[in-house]
Amino acid sequence: MDVFNKLQILAAAAKYDASCASSGSSRSNVSRGLGNASSSPVGICHSWAADGRCISLFKVLFSNYCIYDCVYCANRRSNDLPRSTFTVEEVIDLTINFYRRNYIEGLFLSSGVLKNADYTMELLLLVVKKLRLEHSFNGYIHLKVIPGANQELIREAGLFVDRLSVNIELPSEKGLQMLAPEKKRDDILTPMKYIGNKINSNREERKLYKKALAFVPAGQSTQLIVGASPEPDYQILHLAEQLYQKVKLRRVYYSAYVPVNSNPLLPTMTFPPLKRENRLYQADWLIRFYKFRAAEIVNAQTPVLDPDFDPKSSWAFRNLDFFPVEINKANYETLLRVPGIGLKSSQRILSARRLGTLSFDHLPKMGIVLKRARYFITCQGRFLEKIDNEMLIKQKLLAADLPVAKMGQPHQQLSLFEEV
Ligand code: SF4
Repeated sequence: MDVFNKLQILAAAAKYDASCASSGSSRSNVSRGLGNASSSPVGICHSWAADGRCISLFKVLFSNYCIYDCVYCANRRSNDLPRSTFTVEEVIDLTINFYRRNYIEGLFLSSGVLKNADYTMELLLLVVKKLRLEHSFNGYIHLKVIPGANQELIREAGLFVDRLSVNIELPSEKGLQMLAPEKKRDDILTPMKYIGNKINSNREERKLYKKALAFVPAGQSTQLIVGASPEPDYQILHLAEQLYQKVKLRRVYYSAYVPVNSNPLLPTMTFPPLKRENRLYQADWLIRFYKFRAAEIVNAQTPVLDPDFDPKSSWAFRNLDFFPVEINKANYETLLRVPGIGLKSSQRILSARRLGTLSFDHLPKMGIVLKRARYFITCQGRFLEKIDNEMLIKQKLLAADLPVAKMGQPHQQLSLFEEV
């Protein structure tokens, strides 16, 4: 098989790894227009660097052969599909050539498990090591850790890549036993903890010795499949919160389960639960940047996220006695709790208040979504529209032309970057 055929198979096989901002989009180029949002057959996707830059990555599997038979996975060993494996040199050549042509700024490399975890991890390590040492490749590298791989291989890989990630796959041990019984939870959590500790100790080491090599400078992440097993959002978000606190994850990628296999253990669904994935990302955003705790968003009484309203609005409905928030007096943390006021607009409010008293006329210019915020705020003690009945506010929000699903209509995926 020539390299191009391998590339077609292994780039397509990598599409289930959620590292791309464009995942879920299927709009393709029409009428000789410019650009194409559908997944590229040669595996170029976009991701976000630690400084917020959007970067293009060559996203590919080293091999789509796998010794495992995870029920939810397209590449499981029992599936009959075209298979291939690159050589180390082929991945390096493709990366260097794509980079020279300015197609990519980095590499996202994962793999099915060949022979065993150590054997596969050694091959992946060889790719990144040669790229850095023999080809002086300075582009971004995100490498997937093969669960169960030797710690020494992970340590060495961490010195050559920007980001490592170990896929946690499913939200609970029970789910893993049911759908990926050959995988052990410990083989996933132990390397995560090791990487988290190593990142911390490396940070201290580099304060003392400036020449100490950086270990995983862009941090670690993980991927969690949503909807293949029955855990509610409550369990998923509590797990994510723990991972952020305990193993210092940069981020959790929630990946809506794509129904590629039919098996009685899997839920019957035709489309991936993209709306649920989107709500989880919004809730995750609240935990990471808006100082919410997971238990405030979902808990034993409210175990699932409301598909009709974003998680911050849902929290506001359950806590109407927290409101109204006076725009001219509230502190930063309080402003962040208001639906329709985001991180930047909260900062803008604080800055603008130093120059004078704010009125409702000032707010849209500062990025506040008044259609959403109006029921929760006052300016100089006055409401723009006073309603203190939850149902009425919900109806008004649904009636306004906001990007929320209309009751009873199919849900669509929303932007991750709207003000929540
Ligand atoms: S180990 Fe990974 S590639 Fe192999 S079957 Fe499981 S999820 Fe798929």
